[in-house]
Amino acid sequence: MRHSSLTTSNAPQLAYTLISDVTSLARSIELWTQDTVTDRRIAIDTEFIRERTYAPVLEMVQIASPNGHIGLIDVPAIKDLTALWQFLDDPTLTKLVHAGNQDVEIMALAFGRPLNGPWFDTQVAGAFLGIGLQAGYGAIVQQVLHVKLDKEEGFSDWSRRPFTDSMLNYAAGDVHYLHSLETWLSERLAKRGRTQWAIDQTNRILGHSADQTAPEDLWQRVGGKHHLDGTGLAVLRELTIWRDQEARRRDKPRRNILKDEPLIEIAKRKPRSASAISDLRAMPPNSGDRVANELYQCVQRGLAVPRAECPKLDSTPALDEQGSALLELFAAVVKVRSMDTDLPPSLLAPTDDLRQLAGMRTKPDPLNPLFQGWREELIGTWLRACVEGRLAVSWDAKRGQIRLHLTEPEA
Ligand SMILES: [Zn+2]
Repeated sequence: MRHSSLTTSNAPQLAYTLISDVTSLARSIELWTQDTVTDRRIAIDTEFIRERTYAPVLEMVQIASPNGHIGLIDVPAIKDLTALWQFLDDPTLTKLVHAGNQDVEIMALAFGRPLNGPWFDTQVAGAFLGIGLQAGYGAIVQQVLHVKLDKEEGFSDWSRRPFTDSMLNYAAGDVHYLHSLETWLSERLAKRGRTQWAIDQTNRILGHSADQTAPEDLWQRVGGKHHLDGTGLAVLRELTIWRDQEARRRDKPRRNILKDEPLIEIAKRKPRSASAISDLRAMPPNSGDRVANELYQCVQRGLAVPRAECPKLDSTPALDEQGSALLELFAAVVKVRSMDTDLPPSLLAPTDDLRQLAGMRTKPDPLNPLFQGWREELIGTWLRACVEGRLAVSWDAKRGQIRLHLTEPEA
């Protein structure tokens, strides 16, 4: 995990085992298996590097058992982690993580498929207790356990060997506190009846972390695509497929091959020759004739796509004046519910979902995430009443607060 840097620390020096061969990995797994016979919780964190290669490189996996046995696994030294993945894959073992989506993604890549849950994400749980929407690990450890971690090693180069003592101590700290955090958070979630909400939201987030975007859908993740017409999008689709293949072939991150900006410029201008591509302002100098030629072929392939088969933007229809006003009314409803529930407005109701509802106001989409799972009870009911004209919003002068009331009993 990555963290902001804090300086003065009162964190203790931790005991841990550095695991760099299969035998000591097997011994540790045996120990963790014994440690989790009754307390079925295991803490996980990973350190990886995604800046240099096509796929992120896993450098370390940290594991802590409920008894505080911490193992720091040097992944490149061991290579075959099958035994570890099989141990973690047990669907009766609860995996504790903090902001675990990248960890889940990278472990799925290493294992060949996503590991079984259940997961408990301390960041998600914290959000349901009003501890910030995206509280960092250091912040939550400090707030809950009053331990101030030294975070400088968060920016270390995890590919260096040997690891320094301070890197190892830092890595151990990333898993050491997860059990205590889980205990504290779970107790309060249960007291407030929010356990299931946190579980649902964790599944929603971590359940898709390992999803890979298909090459023909990569264009959807390019910034600036909204200014392109259908043919421009068809060209962009070809360009992003090419960039992905090129990145794989040279084992580089996609953005090291070409950034988004030149792709958008090519898709917008649709140059008529390879040399016209080389001349574009956004093209890096010295990208070479081969690259220009291949990009030009992408342009031609994109231009050849029949109009009806060009990609379309997921267009939330532009809001008319009433729609924009309705969106502001929703925002007020969300704000009141946010104060009532002590949950951040953006957790309660993501803006995109509100926009969609404002656009489809006469026919609210039952699949809108606002009406799914825990959100239905907390905000969905109120927003539905709002679009059905059954919600009154008023200022209660006596109490000095905005009030929401349903103007007729719910069916
Ligand atoms: Zn970490």
